[in-house]
Amino acid sequence: MKLFMATLSTETNTFSPMPTAMSGFEEFYLRHGTATQDSPNLMTEALHLWRRRAEAMGWEVTESLAAIAEPAGPTIASTYDALRGEILSDLEQASGADVILLQLHGAMVAQHVEDCEGDILQAVRSLCPDAIIGVSLDLHCHLTEDMLSAADLIVTFKEYPHDDAAPRARELFDLALRMTREEIRPVSGMFDCRMLGLYLTKEGEMQEVVREMHALEAQPGILSVSLAHGFPWADVADVGTRVLVITDNDAELAARTAENFGKAFFARRDAVNASYPDLDTALDRAMTSTDGPIVLADMGDNSGAGAPGDATFVLREVLKRGLSDVAAGFYWDPVVLRICKDAGRGARLSLRLGGKVGPDSGDPVDIDAEVVHVASGLGQHLGEGLEPLGTMVWLRLANGVDLLVNDLRTQVYHPEAFEQMGIRLATKKLVVVKSTFHFYAPFRAITTRVIQAATPGGASPDFTTFRYLGPGSECWPFVDDPFDTAGNKLSNTHDLDQPAV
Ligand SMILES: [Zn+2]
Repeated sequence: MKLFMATLSTETNTFSPMPTAMSGFEEFYLRHGTATQDSPNLMTEALHLWRRRAEAMGWEVTESLAAIAEPAGPTIASTYDALRGEILSDLEQASGADVILLQLHGAMVAQHVEDCEGDILQAVRSLCPDAIIGVSLDLHCHLTEDMLSAADLIVTFKEYPHDDAAPRARELFDLALRMTREEIRPVSGMFDCRMLGLYLTKEGEMQEVVREMHALEAQPGILSVSLAHGFPWADVADVGTRVLVITDNDAELAARTAENFGKAFFARRDAVNASYPDLDTALDRAMTSTDGPIVLADMGDNSGAGAPGDATFVLREVLKRGLSDVAAGFYWDPVVLRICKDAGRGARLSLRLGGKVGPDSGDPVDIDAEVVHVASGLGQHLGEGLEPLGTMVWLRLANGVDLLVNDLRTQVYHPEAFEQMGIRLATKKLVVVKSTFHFYAPFRAITTRVIQAATPGGASPDFTTFRYLGPGSECWPFVDDPFDTAGNKLSNTHDLDQPAV
């Protein structure tokens, strides 16, 4: 048996003004057939697992591209063509394969291709019409008919935060293996829930939803159940939450199960979607708390969802209120980082921080700061994987306000990002992290209280502030009942000139 495998991952926020270029892959993660020689990260864990499983059975393994970029706007056409072309040419050079397993994101948009993963899978299918093609996707994906018609098997992560890349990769391998033995004939059914949302699976109603998916998979004939949460900050044709069910040669069961599960999920829309306080309310709540530290998530500026990562809305308010003993990060500001690095530890500088990318960043903030520490080559854990941090600088302002600035756009996943730099979070009253959910579990270990704030920015959880021209505007929450054509539409304008600070 011959196995061919590759990974390509970026999540495209189509509202972002920053294109995703080859430099975005080069600075984050780009390997040409050697990813399994590194330690695994979220999107390469699957490659490690598939190689181990295949080689244990004596299969021949061809490892192709592993390319990951921090989410931003649509990928430059030539960059996408080069990455896609590398996978296809490696596949041609390998003279095809019996089994092709890909770890893709599922929400990658290029300037000239809206459904990159569907496009790649269709091309792979035309090169290898008889191969078994399986794909593992991030659950923040847009499931499309092009993906379904090209791939035999699609499995998405079930957990958000994503700590189940390895078990999903294992399931995909197992299903592909059963296909090679002709034990199963997978067929898929999909249901469009017509809703935009963010669903944390670690507590409450979503824990039950995940349990129900596993229970369905234990039923006769059902091979796999995926809930594609969707990536809401994308004005694309296939945006929104979808259910995918794979059965053993029973199309009617697949379609019926997907529809039943999807309709039941839509009916739980209020229970699975939390409401988040705005910035003022969040800070008011944090200030009334006597426990410390309080962790406040600056959700609107999560670069992991394509926001700039240099927004200053929270910092400006922290300074205006004169809050003390605060740690906050990461501010993506390569210019400030360069100045601080050149000046070195102990330097006292007047700096103009953040607010550079566009209106979603807010205005720059002028600060007087001491450069306490500069470090390169550090990482932070996301589950088992270690994610890069770039070069970081610790800036200390008055009142014990400590900021982390870096030159690699990335969200905060783990307290170790602060602690490794020397910032003791236990001494702080407030810790501000630019993230949505991925920080959640590791930070729960250092705090009794997390406040997720609907801050302004390019990844605001208030979708009604974005202007969807496509079918996103026909989904809940824009439409009360999207299955009713007479649904009551809300206004949906993203007023970039006047962010709701
Ligand atoms: Zn995701």
